Amino acid sequence: MHQTSQAPTLPSLEAQQLMTHMDVFCRQIGARPTGSAAERRAAEYVMQVLDSLKIADVRRQPFQTPPSSGSVSLPVLSIAALGGLLSGSSRFGKLIGGLALIGGVANLIGLETGRRPVFYPLIATAESENIIARIPARGTPKRMVFIVAHLDSNKQRFLFPAPIPVLTKLFHTASFALALIGGASMLLDVITGKRGSGFLQRLGVFSAVLGVTASVVDEFQPFVEGANDNATALSVALGLAGAFSRAPLEHTEVTLLFTGAEEPGCNGIESYLLQYAPPLAESTFIDIEMVGTGSLCYVTEHGMSAFGRYHPAPKITALAAQVARENPQLGVMGKPMTIIEEVANLRAHGYEAICVAGYGFDGMLPNWHRTSDTLDKIEPDVLHRAARYIYELVTALDQQ
Ligand SMILES: [Zn+2]
Repeated sequence: MHQTSQAPTLPSLEAQQLMTHMDVFCRQIGARPTGSAAERRAAEYVMQVLDSLKIADVRRQPFQTPPSSGSVSLPVLSIAALGGLLSGSSRFGKLIGGLALIGGVANLIGLETGRRPVFYPLIATAESENIIARIPARGTPKRMVFIVAHLDSNKQRFLFPAPIPVLTKLFHTASFALALIGGASMLLDVITGKRGSGFLQRLGVFSAVLGVTASVVDEFQPFVEGANDNATALSVALGLAGAFSRAPLEHTEVTLLFTGAEEPGCNGIESYLLQYAPPLAESTFIDIEMVGTGSLCYVTEHGMSAFGRYHPAPKITALAAQVARENPQLGVMGKPMTIIEEVANLRAHGYEAICVAGYGFDGMLPNWHRTSDTLDKIEPDVLHRAARYIYELVTALDQQ
C-alpha cells in the first residue's frame, strides 16, 4: 500500500518556490505565442532551471508548426462553408456541398481528437521546440513516466470556450450536428433527384458560415498572459524536476516534457511521439493543464462536443482515483471537463495518459483563453497541491 504519511517535505514543490517560476513566466516573459521569441524565452528559462538542477540528459527538439489554431481550422471551415454556399440546386452542386459539409465536420472532429490534417505540411510555417529532460531510475528501470507541460499560450478565443463557457459543448455539438444534417440532406437529394435547397440544408450552411466568422473574429483577439494556461504546468513540472532529480525513483525513469506549440493542435507532443516513439507498454503520461485556480481534478472525459469525446487510459485513471482517495488533504477528484489537450494525441497513439486540471465554480477551466488569465488570479496553495498530487501519483506508479 502506498504510504503518504511519511511523505518528505520537498522544497521545490512548496508554493513560494513554484510562484518564483510563475513570476518569470508571467511578469518577465508574459504572453508566449506559438513559435514566438517569448515561447523561446520560456524554453530558455526551463533549460536554465534544469541546468541548475544538474540534470544530465536534457535535449531540445525543434520542429515546424502552424502558428495559430486558425491556420488549421480556417481552411477546413472555409471549404465546408464555400461548398455549402455554392451547392445551388443541381445534383452535382449538392454532391459537392454535401461532401464539403460532412468532410469538414469529420476533419474538425479529427483535429479535436489528436489527428493532424492532410494539409499539415502546407501550414506548418513556424518554428517551435520541445525541451526533454530525462531523470533515470536509481535501480533497475521498469517503466517510464512523462510529465507534460506546454510552453506556449493562446489568443483570447470565443470558440474555445463560448462567450458563456458552460454552453461551449452544447454550441459545438449543435453546430456539428446542423452541418452533418444539412450535408446528409444534400446527399439524399443527389440520390432522389430532388431540386431546391431545403431548410435543413440552409441551416447546415449557416452553421459552417458562422464557424468561419467566429474563427476569423478569434484570430484578431489579443494574446493572453497564460498564467493558468499554462505557466502553472511549467512551474509544477519544474518543481517535480527538482524533487525527482534530488531523489530519483527506484524503478521509474521520469521525463519532463516541456512541449512547444500545444495551442494550435498539440504539435509538440505529436512531434515528440513521431520522432521518439517511447515503448507503448512501459510508458505513462501525465499532462498538466491550468492547475493554479479553483479546485483540482484528474479528467475522466475530455472533448469540446459530443462528437469529439476522448477518455484517459484505464490503469492510470484507477491509480489517480486511488491517490486522490488516499490524500484527501489535496482535494482532488475525478471530473469530466470541456477541454482538448495533449491526452488526445497520446490516446490516439495508444498510450496510457491522463490530464490533471483545475476547474472553477461553474465546472469550467478558469479564465481559459481569456485576457483575464493573469498572475493575480493564481492561488499559490492550489498550485502547491497540484504539484504534490502529481508527485504522489508518480511515486505510487513507481511502487506498483
Ligand atoms: Zn493549455
